[in-house]
Amino acid sequence: MEQRKKLLVDFDDTICESVTLTIVNRFLGTNYTLQDFDDYMIDDKIPPEKLNEYFEHYFDVDPYENLPFIEGAKEALEKLNKKYDVYICSSCILTKSPASSAKLFTSKFNYLVKNLPFLDPAKFIFTSSKDVCCGDILIDDYFHNFKSNIPTKLLFDSYHNKKLTEEELKARGVQRVMGWKHICEILL
Ligand SMILES: [Mg+2]
Repeated sequence: MEQRKKLLVDFDDTICESVTLTIVNRFLGTNYTLQDFDDYMIDDKIPPEKLNEYFEHYFDVDPYENLPFIEGAKEALEKLNKKYDVYICSSCILTKSPASSAKLFTSKFNYLVKNLPFLDPAKFIFTSSKDVCCGDILIDDYFHNFKSNIPTKLLFDSYHNKKLTEEELKARGVQRVMGWKHICEILL
């Protein structure tokens, strides 16, 4: 039997909408949308003197509990899972407060098990060091994650990667994809 290809899929801003945006808005009482950002770090909006307080309140509400999917993600993953060996490859580390990250693992794990029950929890990889993961295809919105030798690299179009030029993508062998419908056209 032919071995199925390994498909690694990022989670934040690829499968589900931005959790950081939701938490920053709740903490600051603001109504920012993704259109207000063109850089990755949405929590740069938190004044440095308020960062400790921000992380103290980070888990007041389960961060992923009611977080919406990006359009078409769930349906696409269900189809892709029949053809590929799907792994979720996602960081659970709060960059500005790594030691506060523990509950993020639980929250993300629970969200995946509840909302994507067709995926195998044994194939959830929680790491920021995605370059150590091997596979055939990687779908991710964060350009810096495309460092490994994975042959097919698909950059999920997102607020913070729009400035990247076609030349920059080409130099790293990366193709931009405009949502889950586009991904299905390429991979199914
Ligand atoms: Mg991401």
